[in-house]
Amino acid sequence: MLRVIRVRFSYLCLFVVILVLGYFSLRVIYDHMENRRVAALSWSLANKVIVVDPGHGGIDPGSKGPTGAIEEDITLEVARKLATVLSQAGAIVLMTRESDMDLSDAEGGSLLARKRQDLSRRVALANEHEADAFISVHVNSFKSGPLEHGAQTFYQPGSEEGKKLATSIQSELVRMLRNTNRKAKAVDYYTTRNAKMPAVIVEIGFISNAKEEKLMGDVDYQGKLAYVIYSGMVKYFAEHATPTSGAVDKEKAMETFMHNKGETYNAP
Ligand SMILES: [Zn+2]
Repeated sequence: MLRVIRVRFSYLCLFVVILVLGYFSLRVIYDHMENRRVAALSWSLANKVIVVDPGHGGIDPGSKGPTGAIEEDITLEVARKLATVLSQAGAIVLMTRESDMDLSDAEGGSLLARKRQDLSRRVALANEHEADAFISVHVNSFKSGPLEHGAQTFYQPGSEEGKKLATSIQSELVRMLRNTNRKAKAVDYYTTRNAKMPAVIVEIGFISNAKEEKLMGDVDYQGKLAYVIYSGMVKYFAEHATPTSGAVDKEKAMETFMHNKGETYNAP
């Protein structure tokens, strides 16, 4: 009897091992296929004007982590990487800052007045260039809850397109980072309220959480974050593109049709 149970127990263990291995293999295959899909859809970003905004800088360094990491440095690094990957896909990328600076006048008055001027100029850059999307990169902080964690996107309440873009980026953050289950959230921020295009604030993690502070300072993780945001943007723009958008040269289309008439293809 004992032997039978022992044999059955070993079968059970084998079954669990197969199940776990199967799950992880499927996950790897799924991720690989999704990455290929994103690569195939990267055309959706071609010629799109994207404003990438590294949060803070200059007069306002942003939040500080328990071991001294500063928001303005992390946001700049991730934004730079995001700008690179967007440019590689053919997007026209404008960054609101490329060093430790802000956009306010040095003699702009109080800190609050300069902060307002800085934010309004960041949004104005996007509005003046009629950008297709405004992406602002920030880090979150919650000092009274040091275990609070997870990247999250924010959009302007009432903005349908902002919500779609934020949701697309959020689902990629959840799928690829595997350390956040947060949802895209509607919050009234100055930048998203005044932007005339889909605008999203991506809080890439909690700097008040020591583990995430360290992660966000890691160059590879920063690159991963940039790819994840890019991936969400690719999917958003691909979903919004229609095959008939843009001018269609009817004569050319007809010529192609005539050229190929009579040819049939069998299903593989
Ligand atoms: Zn911030």
